[in-house]
Amino acid sequence: MKKKIFISVVVFLLGLIGFSVFSYFHSFELKGKKTVEVALGKTYQEEGVQANLFFLPLRSLVRRTGTVDTEKVGTYEITYHLPFQTLKRTVIVKDKNAPVITLHGENPLTFSYGQPYVEEGFEALDDVDQDVTDRVKVTSHIDEKTPGTYEVVYEVTDTAQNQTSVTRTVTIVDDQAPTLELEGNDTIYISVGATYTEPGYHASDNYDGDVTSRVVVDSKVDIQTAGTYSIHYSVEDSFGNRAEKSRTVVVRKSDITYIRGILLVNKTHSLPSNYAPGENQEARNALTELQQAAAKQGYSLPLLSGYRSYSYQKTLYQNYVNRDGEEKANTYSAKPGQSEHQTGLAFDVGDLNSSFGRTPAGIWLKENAHLYGFIIRYPQGKESITGYAYEPWHVRYLGVSVATEVYQQGVTLEEYLGVA
Ligand SMILES: [Zn+2]
Repeated sequence: MKKKIFISVVVFLLGLIGFSVFSYFHSFELKGKKTVEVALGKTYQEEGVQANLFFLPLRSLVRRTGTVDTEKVGTYEITYHLPFQTLKRTVIVKDKNAPVITLHGENPLTFSYGQPYVEEGFEALDDVDQDVTDRVKVTSHIDEKTPGTYEVVYEVTDTAQNQTSVTRTVTIVDDQAPTLELEGNDTIYISVGATYTEPGYHASDNYDGDVTSRVVVDSKVDIQTAGTYSIHYSVEDSFGNRAEKSRTVVVRKSDITYIRGILLVNKTHSLPSNYAPGENQEARNALTELQQAAAKQGYSLPLLSGYRSYSYQKTLYQNYVNRDGEEKANTYSAKPGQSEHQTGLAFDVGDLNSSFGRTPAGIWLKENAHLYGFIIRYPQGKESITGYAYEPWHVRYLGVSVATEVYQQGVTLEEYLGVA
């Protein structure tokens, strides 16, 4: 009985010593980190544990429980068991992939100034959240009013806060040339020595607006030499788009005499029978102004005769010859082709009587006609130069600046033009 008790005590003591030795001299620890992060879809690498008793490996005694599904976001736990002891490791499967944005349409995109920017769309897909197109934030920096290069930025963030952004480069180009329009005819016929008057032009641009002032006119016209010339018009907008036009000017020899652009008609410089310009509108308007100014002063200057055709003058002259004889008729009437009235620039006003020049209306006309562009064409005492008797009623339109010069110099048109 005593022996049995003794054996029991010894076994108990040996067990106690064994457990104590195992407890104090073994090691059991995790290899790697206690918490491990794994990207979704990637492989989880199990690093295991270290288990020894002195130099004796105990790994075969370790049992592992718990699983990790790397195809599913979540927090997993792995437990390592050794008799009397356990270790735990946390494995977090995380979504680390940002969504992917796909742009529809062109990138980079170029379109013409004046057209609206049309968003061609996009889609965004995420490995966890699936379709996140409706979460995409679009920021456009486009200024449609100014040609240039701009960015449209597309941004999206998934539930796991992974963010991505894509940029579309948008260029607005002004590729439209200005519109250039010529007023008047494409071909202009003009007599040698006459004045070329530019009928005008107009240019506008879709971006710059009115660019008429930028039109460059290159004229090769030599008005003194008969020939066919071209006038070239060109205009460029702010982006280098050009528009060009040309006009042809035909300078023709003629029997008509122009000196410094002024048409001269007298007994030695006549007009051909086919010269029939009609009444000059500019001259007629100036005459109306003159008549109105005279009326304000109380003077009546009725129009007695204006434009006369070659054939009309022929009849008129013949009637005077028949009545007074050729020599007398020549002092006051012009032969056909030699009348200033055929130019459309001459008018008879007031009273067809040489005493008209002494009336207040006649004096007013003499002193003021130049202000409206007219001269008294056949002044008193200049008969030998003009070839005509004094006609205080006959005015010739020259335009205000030339008429004023002639008036101030106190000369006839022949003297002014150097042909007296
Ligand atoms: Zn007359």
